[in-house]
Amino acid sequence: MTASAANGTVSLVAGLTTNVVREAQRRHGLAPTASAAVGRMITGAALLGASLGSRERLTLHVKGDGPIGSIVADSWIANPRSVAARAYAHNPGADLPLNERGKFDVAGVVGKGQLQVTKSYEVGQPYNGIVPLESGEIGEDIAAYLAHSQQIPSVVALGVLANPEGIVAAGGIIAQLMPGADDSTIATLERNARAMAAVTQQIVDGADPEALLAAVSHPLELKIFDTYGLAFGCRCTREKVESALLGLGRDELAKMADEQPHTEATCEFCKRRYVLSASEVTELAARLDAHA
Ligand SMILES: [Zn+2]
Repeated sequence: MTASAANGTVSLVAGLTTNVVREAQRRHGLAPTASAAVGRMITGAALLGASLGSRERLTLHVKGDGPIGSIVADSWIANPRSVAARAYAHNPGADLPLNERGKFDVAGVVGKGQLQVTKSYEVGQPYNGIVPLESGEIGEDIAAYLAHSQQIPSVVALGVLANPEGIVAAGGIIAQLMPGADDSTIATLERNARAMAAVTQQIVDGADPEALLAAVSHPLELKIFDTYGLAFGCRCTREKVESALLGLGRDELAKMADEQPHTEATCEFCKRRYVLSASEVTELAARLDAHA
């Protein structure tokens, strides 16, 4: 849900992402700490995705030196009323004991490194911004990106709550200050961000996106803009898998067709398996011959 407050000087978005985080956890078999890290990434991508145009795509890429390795999350507008998001982690099994505050040690599995944010269009050059990781907790890192790259101070609160049975709640709030915001507006947002309960606690207590927006912005006057659906989505196709295989080159494809009856490729985002028979791989190799 998108909104503004204080006469348009604050731009806000909040959302419940429990279902997409659950779906990512299930598809990737994420360990508890990894599910919190990937869940915060997919939540951040989903929230920022609500401000994309119809042919744009947003990618968050955390490259840290911790045990989880790279995490990539993507979002786009699937139809005018719905955001689609997906994510994966290099090591879905990364797991650590809870930190001293009793929370998932997301900073521990992520480590030190950088956050790259890419906004791409169907045509033309993508826009890239890179910042060093502030803490590895994801929310603070996205806030640092917004502050450094766009010169806008912001409040970013992202949360994933899980128990041994799985993901209980996930969601987030992003509030960005716009030009013209006065100091008292900034102070109100900062005070609310410090004082409010964790996003996941608010969700467990029954908060909907509007209540999350109110929690971070009251007593500023809130103006709701749009409400979006959110679903786990993927952009993989058989054609994309084939073009990736073509990149292996003619000799490698011929060898694969020779040695194995089937070639399998798995989409790293959604885990969908694509199976090509040896004759289909031979056809691909022949396509390269035709272009040679
Ligand atoms: Zn896929």
